[in-house]
Amino acid sequence: MIELKQIKKIYQMGGEPLEILKGIDLSIDEGEFVAIIGPSGSGKSTLMHILGLLDKPTSGSFKLFGKEISDMNDSQTAYLRAKIIGFVFQQFNLLAKMNVRENVELPQIYLGEDGDADAAKIRLAQVDLSDRLDHKPNQISGGQQQRVSIARALVNNPKIIFADEPTGNLPSNQSKEIIEIFRKMNREQGITVVLVTHSDEIAAAADRKITIRDGMILSDERRIPKAEISGKESVSVPQSFRLTWRELKENLSSSVTSIISNKMRSLLTMLGIIIGVGALIAMLAVGNGAQKSIEKQMASMGTNLLGVMSNWRSKSGVSMGRGSVSRINLDDLKIFRNIDNVTGVDGEVSGNVQVVYGNKNTNTSLNGVQYEYARMRNSQPYYGRFFSEDEDNRLSKVCLLGQTVVADIFGNENPVGKTVKINRKNFTVIGVLPKKGAQGPRDQDDVVIVPLNTAMRILLGSRYLGSVWLEVSDYNLMGQVEKDVIAAYRKKHKTPPANDDPITTMNMADMQAMMTSTVSTFGTLLGIIAGISLIVGGIGIMNIMLVSVSERTKEIGLRKAIGATKRAVLLQFLIEAIIVSILGGIIGILFGIASSVLLAKMAKWAISISPSSVMMAFGFSAMVGIIFGYLPARKASRLSPIEALRYE
Ligand code: ADP
Ligand code: MG
Repeated sequence: MIELKQIKKIYQMGGEPLEILKGIDLSIDEGEFVAIIGPSGSGKSTLMHILGLLDKPTSGSFKLFGKEISDMNDSQTAYLRAKIIGFVFQQFNLLAKMNVRENVELPQIYLGEDGDADAAKIRLAQVDLSDRLDHKPNQISGGQQQRVSIARALVNNPKIIFADEPTGNLPSNQSKEIIEIFRKMNREQGITVVLVTHSDEIAAAADRKITIRDGMILSDERRIPKAEISGKESVSVPQSFRLTWRELKENLSSSVTSIISNKMRSLLTMLGIIIGVGALIAMLAVGNGAQKSIEKQMASMGTNLLGVMSNWRSKSGVSMGRGSVSRINLDDLKIFRNIDNVTGVDGEVSGNVQVVYGNKNTNTSLNGVQYEYARMRNSQPYYGRFFSEDEDNRLSKVCLLGQTVVADIFGNENPVGKTVKINRKNFTVIGVLPKKGAQGPRDQDDVVIVPLNTAMRILLGSRYLGSVWLEVSDYNLMGQVEKDVIAAYRKKHKTPPANDDPITTMNMADMQAMMTSTVSTFGTLLGIIAGISLIVGGIGIMNIMLVSVSERTKEIGLRKAIGATKRAVLLQFLIEAIIVSILGGIIGILFGIASSVLLAKMAKWAISISPSSVMMAFGFSAMVGIIFGYLPARKASRLSPIEALRYE
């Protein structure tokens, strides 16, 4: 079953080639019990590592069941290590964090077949350890540990056991038991055993004794004649592995164990992710909240409105436009009203006034509007009534109060019918406006509304309008009406064609964009914080994972020795990185929700936490784990089994 031809192994020592195996020719048949003996440093372990597929020869041919090993890929040799070969090390190489039973089950996980659930128990019974299943390796003796590692080597019913000085670390009474076990495995189960020893006594138990000196076979003696091999057995080697649920479960639990045993380190690793995801959640909550409140306001204003503003700006008292010509006056409202598809007009002025009732007073904003305001702006009074066109024309001193003003100066009293003083003039309160809420820092209910003409002539003494709202019959005609409005205005005021438009129009989409832009500046800032933190967090994860990989190099070597493929090791460390970052992500999500809620409470910002933003944050943290965990995981997966096992 094993055929070596001219196997050489050369190490480079400080540039000098050092030939350790000098052309080994050897064949071993099924069912043999072979002892390899030789002085220390003669190359026994080197040979065993090559036989056990833990190391590669520098040159020569190695055939296992007629198949050349150097032609195989990683997953094929891994399969052979898991299924065909059992390796027993001098240093036992048990994983300290797993109990006896879990250590024995480990090769089953990498085999990828649904192994016998009781195989570990059965093998542990064969080595007389049924009563130690839940012990950790450091709770049992050296001889018992070596018996565990033999059970581990046997768990997948291998065809060959390689044992490199299995009794080297044991007192002689325990050595005897170990050799007995090998002898029994060989006789009763037909397992081929190749063991290295430098004790003649142990070698005497074998059927065949091969002596090695200086990397060459010195002698090869059989105590019993070579048995006739009935038929050539062969093995089939699958091309690749499938991931089993069992392997995934083991990966998860070993990741969790590793995270729990380094709690502080894991938490610090997660910090960047926590801050990043927290900022991301807060950013989305504030952004969505603002967007929603803006949309709500827009809806309450009606969608078919077109705002018209003068481009006239007064800067340090100097008119920047064309003087009075480019400002909107009451006459202009008439030409707007006559434009096709305009179904409503509301001219407005605004200013600041003092409102007094009894001994209470408040400074608030004044809005002079026309009677169509109530309908066009969805502002039918909460109670009381709106003023009429006639009242506007007659300069009636009537007013409607916003609910903040009512609360400030009337408390629980009904204001309708009462008289208040606005800038020292008596006004009758005819209604209370509907609640509109806050728009960013501005309280839209801190307002008093009076008829436009009353505001212009009596309160503000102005001849010009601040803005005009036009209601357009159909949203799709908005663009046409915008053009018509500007054209009509230019015509009336005889604006020379070369001059810029004297007025600006703004439809709902423009307004919404303007309002959103302030919010999105803040959102961008949080987004940058989130991005930087996620990158910093990712680098933190990468760093710790690299530390973790070098700390666990021996473990990686062992896992590979018992059949883990590159992909399995890659996956294991990738899963660990993802778990760390997802855990950080979950804490970050809670942190982000808490700070958003705090922001809403303290600063009265509108926030909205959507499930999709939580999902997105979750996805981001997993992505960070994958991206930054990949490099360390790949480093782990590329370690050669024997170099990893030798690592101290
Ligand atoms: P044995 O098991 O027979 O005692 P080994 O096979 O472990 O001997 O080692 C044989 C020789 O190879 C020793 O001289 C050792 O120093 C050398 N050797 C083993 N591994 C390496 C290595 N990775 N690099 C360089 N030399 C090595
Ligand atoms: Mg050795």
